[in-house]
Amino acid sequence: MRIARFTTGDDPQYGVVTGDVDELGIPSEDSMIVALAGDPLHVGVNLTDQEHQLEAVRLLAPVIPRSKVVGIGRNYAGHAAELGNEVPAEPLMFLKQNTSVVGPGDPIFYPRQSSNVHYEGELAVVIGRICRDVPVERVRDVIYGYTVGNDVTARDLQKNDVQFTRGKGFDSFCPLGPWIETELDTSDLRVTTHLNGDLVQDGSTKDLIFDIATLVAHITSVMTLLPGDVILTGTPEGVGPMNPGDEVEVAVTGIGSLTNKVVARD
Ligand code: MG
Repeated sequence: MRIARFTTGDDPQYGVVTGDVDELGIPSEDSMIVALAGDPLHVGVNLTDQEHQLEAVRLLAPVIPRSKVVGIGRNYAGHAAELGNEVPAEPLMFLKQNTSVVGPGDPIFYPRQSSNVHYEGELAVVIGRICRDVPVERVRDVIYGYTVGNDVTARDLQKNDVQFTRGKGFDSFCPLGPWIETELDTSDLRVTTHLNGDLVQDGSTKDLIFDIATLVAHITSVMTLLPGDVILTGTPEGVGPMNPGDEVEVAVTGIGSLTNKVVARD
């Protein structure tokens, strides 16, 4: 099931996206969105009799993380190597503020403080239950679904600050969308990024150093995760700079694609 958050000009609503999708998760033109009563993460999926053409609504970030986005650094060997880093012995965690989240089509604001802002296309995990100390074999029980993320990073600030709060935490530095796919085998999903139409990242989740079960177990051994919290599972090799005017599209097979434009912050 594909759970989206959308607006037709009024208050945001949740909905289920129906219709066929191609292998990239791109919906057919006749796709519809059936509105739900309430937030399905908290009240379950309650269909209403309201439906819209998918094309006629504006999609929003499918989830606003209730407390945090947990990022995972250097979780693909190729990406660790391209920035001159070793592969970590255990998952390398950082936090992105929940205020950094934006949705499909929203601008990524290029901060005045940086001159080297990078895209990082990633598979994102959405947590469905309050959880702590989750054993690897129980991880599936706490996952609500999966979406596409762009872990936007001001590389210069990340390096200078040593810790990542500023370099990864600007408002608009965490595009998520287009929706949450609740049923997905994540063992071998293609993760691609296009910058202005050129393919710049092309990886597979089969190359994750630490798989999703290991990540959730590791993170929840440190901190409680809440429904709606998001984990960014790491980026494959090919990261690089974006500039104002650029358009960046991240896609994950079986989910869909997420496009945003970079805009100078005035
Ligand atoms: Mg990343």
